[in-house]
Parts: sequence; structure tokens; C-alpha cells
Amino acid sequence: MAHAEFADSGADLELRGITKRFPGFTAIENLNLTIPAGSFFALLGPSGCGKTTTLRLVAGLENPTEGRILLGGDDVTDTKPHQRPVNTVFQSYALFPHMTVLENVAFGLKRRGIGDAEAKAHEALRLVELDHLAARKPAQLSGGQQQRVALARAVVNRPALLLLDEPLGALDLKLRRSMQLELKHIQGEVGLTFLHVTHDQEEAMTMADTVAVMHRGRIEQMGAPEELYELPRTSFVASFLGQSNLLTGPVVSSTATTVMVEAGGQRIEVLRSRAQRHSGTVTIGVRPEKLLLHTAEPARTAGANILGPGRVTDVSFSGVSTSYTVTVPGIDPLVVFAQNMVSGPVVHEGARVWVSWAMEH
Ligand code: ATP
Repeated sequence: MAHAEFADSGADLELRGITKRFPGFTAIENLNLTIPAGSFFALLGPSGCGKTTTLRLVAGLENPTEGRILLGGDDVTDTKPHQRPVNTVFQSYALFPHMTVLENVAFGLKRRGIGDAEAKAHEALRLVELDHLAARKPAQLSGGQQQRVALARAVVNRPALLLLDEPLGALDLKLRRSMQLELKHIQGEVGLTFLHVTHDQEEAMTMADTVAVMHRGRIEQMGAPEELYELPRTSFVASFLGQSNLLTGPVVSSTATTVMVEAGGQRIEVLRSRAQRHSGTVTIGVRPEKLLLHTAEPARTAGANILGPGRVTDVSFSGVSTSYTVTVPGIDPLVVFAQNMVSGPVVHEGARVWVSWAMEH
């Protein structure tokens, strides 16, 4: 490993039955969570869902109304913030403008009288590939470089847990994407436990091993990014993690392996193993990129669903792909994403079309 001095110093974080009530408002409700040492964990949710409150509880800036917080097996619920082995990287880098990059990174170590502060600061700067700019002042750095200095400063004292509070929010989209990959790479090298808070689903999915989707103070679903995307358990998770076509209707029959649903006069078959309910009214979600568009009625085959005929009511070309809106009588407009294998859209507005998809989706 390239940075052995930092390696594998992370610790498990465990939240047991955490509730946080503010006067007249419950921000977190019975939150239970275990984040294994060395993992990159993202808390993802819309504004106001309780992400920042959760981070502040872990950092010790707020006290839980109920529940315990354990770090590496030790109960830190009543430990003061500065005595917890936890650092936070914020969106605002909060670097000292009059100090050099090196002084900024070494500052905390020097103040606590830790020896070799400068050598350790150089090591942390090498980790973020900024050691060659150690003598510069923050104002002489780009936004991305300042963020890397903030990261070096946060890992220099080797905390057991690093909290990231929308750390890339101030960067432009392109830089943000490259910093996402860089942060993930650095996390892999240092082996610290990262707890990242964001409302950006793409950011959470790109970076984290495990994502927890938060909604109104509770965790709605937790799992690997692919699992949340492919098998969302609620329509909130389905629509928060990318676009989804939702079809609602009653279950009309079922077999040992499939469930038949009627929506807008059309029959849709779903794998039983993917269905959470096998009777009553259900909602089916299908991702836009799983749908295929046809200009002639496709032959009915086992394992495939076909809806149509409908009309293309909107075509939106975005270079890599084209998004088609298809209106089929009786159901909400469907969105179909197609990769642009040839140049430009292949189906035009007003065209008569059918939409199909494999039942497993
Ligand atoms: P954002 O992405 O906008 O920061 P968030 O998910 O981080 O949102 P929190 O800051 O954790 O949300 O807030 C959760 C809820 O708790 C919000 O409805 C907020 O208004 C409320 N809240 C937070 N702090 C307090 C407080 N000190 N007193 C009362 N209510 C609060």
C-alpha cells in the first residue's frame, strides 16, 4: 500500500436506537445503523430528511434524545466532540488564509504538541498529491486543490472516522466528478471509515460501498448502490435514485413464478420474486433504460411485457442518449431512454410505437 502510515486505522460506527427531538419536531426516529470499519458509507436523502443532524450527533455537536453511539466498540455518546476520534470535512474548506498549505495541515498537530507535525503534514499532502504546493497560500490554489488541503488536514491526525458533509457542493460539475473518483481512491488507500452525507444520488452511488436512503428521519432502504437502483423497496427510493416509470393497478392473477397486474387496460407480468405483494393494488416501477421502443408491434414472447400502441409525444436528444416520452392511453406517460448508436433520434415525435421490456426488470 502506498500510504501504509494511514492504512487501516478506521473503526466501526454503530448507531443504536437513535432518536433526536427538537422542540416540537422529531428530526431522527429510532435510527439503527452499523458502518463497518474501512467502508465508504453514504447517507442520501432530500433536504430536511435528517442527514446533517445525524452527522452532528456522530461528531458530538448534538446529543441524542435517545439511543447510543459506539465507535470501535466504545460508547462515545457522552464523549465531548474534541475527544472523539472523528473529523469532519465541510463544503466550506475553512482554511486559514494567512497560513501556507503545510501550516494549515500541521496546525492541529502542533497545537496539541504532537511531534513530527511537519513530517506528518507532508505525508498527508502526498496522499492528496499536493505536497509540491506545500508553500503556497490557500488563495493561490484552485477550489479542488483547496478541498484536497481540507481533506489532508482532516486525515493528518488519523481519525477513526471521517465525516463528509456535502464536501463537493461548492465545485463545478466536472471537477465534482473527478473529485468523487479521487475521494474514493483516497479512502481506499487510507482505509479510514468514511461517512458521507449528500442529496446527490449520483454522487452517493459513484462513491459509496453502501448507501442508506433517508426520508423524514428514517432510513427507507440501505444496501449496495446497484441493489438500491435495481430493487428499490419503495416508490420513494425508486424515484429518488434516478427516474422510474410507475404503473399502478390491481393484481388480477398469479402463478408460482409470476404475478399479473392490469394497468390502464393492459396486462403486465412481474416476477413473483420481485413482487412485495401478490394481491390488491400494486405499483410497478420500470427504469427508462430498460424499455425498448418499437415502430411495429413486436411478437409476444414469454418473459417480455409489451405496452401499446402509443404515440411518441416528446423527443429530447442529449448526445449520448435520447429520451422519448410515450403516451399510451390509460397509463401515465412512459419515459424511454435509448443509447444513440447512430447519430440523432431514430424515432420522431408523433410516431406510432410499442414499448417492451424483459419481465425481470
Ligand atoms: P439539508 O440537506 O437541507 O441540510 P438535512 O437532511 O441535512 O437537510 P437536517 O439539517 O438534519 O436535514 O434537518 C432535519 C430536520 O430537523 C429539518 O426539518 C430541520 O428543520 C430540523 N432541525 C434541524 N436542526 C434543528 C434545530 N436546532 N431546531 C429545530 N429543528 C431543527
